[in-house]
Amino acid sequence: MLDIQKIRADFPILSEKVNGKPLVYFDNGATSQKPQIVIDAIATYYQEINANIHRGVHTLSQLATDAYEISRVKIQHHINAKFSHEVLFTSGTTHGINLVTNGFASILKPGDEVIVSSLEHHSNIVPWQMLCEKTGATLKVIPMDENGELIMNAFDALLSEKTKVVTVNHISNALGIINPIKYMIEKAHAVGAAVLIDGAQAVPHLKPDVQDLDCDFYAFSGHKMCGPTGTGILYGKEEWLNKLPPYQGGGEMIKEVTFEKTTYADLPHKFEAGTPNIAGGIVLGTAVDYLNHIGFHNIQKQEEKLLEHATKRLLEIEGLKIYGTGKNKASVVSFNIDGIHPYDIGSIIDKLGIAVRTGHHCAQPIMNFFCIPGTIRASFSFYNTIEEIDIMVEAVKKAKTMLS
Ligand SMILES: *Cc1c(COP(=O)(O)O)cnc(C)c1O
Repeated sequence: MLDIQKIRADFPILSEKVNGKPLVYFDNGATSQKPQIVIDAIATYYQEINANIHRGVHTLSQLATDAYEISRVKIQHHINAKFSHEVLFTSGTTHGINLVTNGFASILKPGDEVIVSSLEHHSNIVPWQMLCEKTGATLKVIPMDENGELIMNAFDALLSEKTKVVTVNHISNALGIINPIKYMIEKAHAVGAAVLIDGAQAVPHLKPDVQDLDCDFYAFSGHKMCGPTGTGILYGKEEWLNKLPPYQGGGEMIKEVTFEKTTYADLPHKFEAGTPNIAGGIVLGTAVDYLNHIGFHNIQKQEEKLLEHATKRLLEIEGLKIYGTGKNKASVVSFNIDGIHPYDIGSIIDKLGIAVRTGHHCAQPIMNFFCIPGTIRASFSFYNTIEEIDIMVEAVKKAKTMLS
């Protein structure tokens, strides 16, 4: 069993007071907190080895390059990619998805179809819409049911030889539902479509195995998995990364430049134009080490306990409805109370030191489906406790009394 108090001591912010109350941080779905080892690693980079990478022959440049490339290999092993050049550093999930949609602009033709799910974050809707507008391809949407689960019969029916890309999140940020992506990837491949998985909400909770999943692309952000903001990874299968054109032009991504013609660098540099977030990329590796040191088995056990307790305790409140009631769920509870705007509850409990997210969670189509303006979303991490959930439940009860 995890020693939660010992783990909490790794995160300096967790002992802060907010509005005079001990912080209860349940907005992990928006961004996770950072352990001291990650915070320190950022300073250490700038204090000891700061230099530009892949360019200089001087010692610091080589040290920085080595640390950056070691981090890439660490992440390769973490997600079980076949080659380290299939692991691209990005600024986050949004960047990774746009890199792919930009590449498909030269592949898709009018009449082709792109399938997205109704559970997507705006980051995994809008770039595909823009791509369809540009190419004349058609966007198709996998519907969901009242439990917040994607309807697999409907997905099967959407697939055809016209389908060129299928994209879906591994775990829904708004509802916490875990999607049956392995099934979906197999089905999409059977009609020859490429598959992008938005793993932003999955990587804090589990270790994805991209070879076992057999996905073509897997995008995620560092900041939701204890890493720095402005970091992320796009995994792409070698054959796809070779096929797609570069995203941005600039330094680092070239082999030779003349005014007549430029040839591009080999993978992964072809997709890494300009000076990257060097410190961030290195420290993302530190965050991955930290999570593996805690152990994903332990993380899942603790988070399951939190989810179960929160679901049970919240449902004690009369008029409270939870959205996303499917069986396979990550530690996210999205809820509303009859007749009360989610924002009002969020503001009152914030005064009590409790950080939750209220609103549409960048997933307006889901809110439209349920005919609601938004929800209150409590998203738990392994460093949260049962006591904190009890504090939140009491605070929500208090807010309900004040508002009704
Ligand atoms: C957070 C999130 C994103 C966007 O991530 P950024 O870090 O803002 O680029 C995309 N998809 C899902 C499911 C998310 O939770």
